[in-house]
Amino acid sequence: MVNSVFGSVGTSVFETMSRLAAEHGAVNLGQGFPEGIEAAEVIAAAERALRAGPHQYPPTLGLPALRQAVAAANKRFWGIEVDWQSEVLVTSGATEALADCFLGLLEPGDEVLVFQPAYDSYGVILRRAGAVPVPVRLEPPHWELPRQRILDSITPRTRAILLNTPMNPNGKVFTRDELEFLADLLERHDLVAICDEVYEHLTFDGREHLPLMALPQARGRCLRIGSAGKTFSVTGWKVGYVTSTAERLAPVARAHQYLTFATPPHLQSAVAFGLGLGDDYFGGLQATLQEHRDYLAAGLRDLGFTVLDGGGTYFLCVDISGLDPQGDDFAFCRRLVAESGVAAVPVSTFYAERDMRSLIRLCFAKRKPLLRDALDRLGAWAARRPVAAA
Ligand code: PMP
Ligand code: GLN
Repeated sequence: MVNSVFGSVGTSVFETMSRLAAEHGAVNLGQGFPEGIEAAEVIAAAERALRAGPHQYPPTLGLPALRQAVAAANKRFWGIEVDWQSEVLVTSGATEALADCFLGLLEPGDEVLVFQPAYDSYGVILRRAGAVPVPVRLEPPHWELPRQRILDSITPRTRAILLNTPMNPNGKVFTRDELEFLADLLERHDLVAICDEVYEHLTFDGREHLPLMALPQARGRCLRIGSAGKTFSVTGWKVGYVTSTAERLAPVARAHQYLTFATPPHLQSAVAFGLGLGDDYFGGLQATLQEHRDYLAAGLRDLGFTVLDGGGTYFLCVDISGLDPQGDDFAFCRRLVAESGVAAVPVSTFYAERDMRSLIRLCFAKRKPLLRDALDRLGAWAARRPVAAA
């Protein structure tokens, strides 16, 4: 017996590529997780909290200290005024937060516009919630907001827009002008925006992340999701948070109550501590990741690879059309990990139709020596190929 949605999907490509990386002793630039930049002071805070306890169920909405810290961070970083008691919910990762939003807000048959490329859990959980994901495609290399395509996709059944900025896997950071266009749509078509902002602190080259929720006209229509995994480089912790209006958050909190009920309290305490760290922490994270992005991008370009520009997140996309006559990015990644010892992720996995086959994604949130090792391996691989990378 199997539910038809889960029966129709396989093992996630992130897991598959990590397994292959381990099998081949490869440098794993596939699955998006940081290495070597974990926030040591936040981990120390978790150790203290684990020793001190308590170890029992925290309140279902989250520890007051963390809800207060999330509210304060909304104000400090993005100028959003938030009532911590009624407008913040703590979840077990952003993934659970997304599921809570879908399950808590949507009815069967409701349509949700999903910008593609899109994180793989969106479509699956939307469908399991009975909703209909409506893909709206952004086009490389600039990934501009496809305004006409959005207008053409709205029907009387459209209820929500799912927006991920900064965007995985392409590193797009939505501009104020694009967000204003979306804010206007929310109002005109009576929609809500589910805003996946897990990479909110990871923007580069002076680009500013702007939450849609920070636009006053959209404040009451947004559910804004963050993740401590990304902000403190501890993706295994799975601590997320949702900020919205009290009215919109209540059904989401109900879904959370019946799914996981709560999130480990010592991790919540540590994240509360982390969100209060000084600007040097947040600025330092940004500067380190920007430097690592530049290092990987320059190294790849020197080897002859075509690297797309990315302004945020952990990721760079590489165009493999000149390297992959078969036009199959998944098969290419499988070959690449075996032949070169570097794992990447095929970008087709971010498309419902799997038809974008010419890009692969590499994660640069790693120690420099690991990035150097990956570049050396890719250089050796390119030199061995009958058709050179260039
Ligand atoms: N949204 C996006 C866009 C992501 O890339 C990820 C994870 N890498 C998540 C959500 C999930 O975050 P979490 O690990 O906190 O569930
Ligand atoms: N979101 C992460 C990525 O893009 C992966 C999360 C996961 O493995 N489920 O790599």
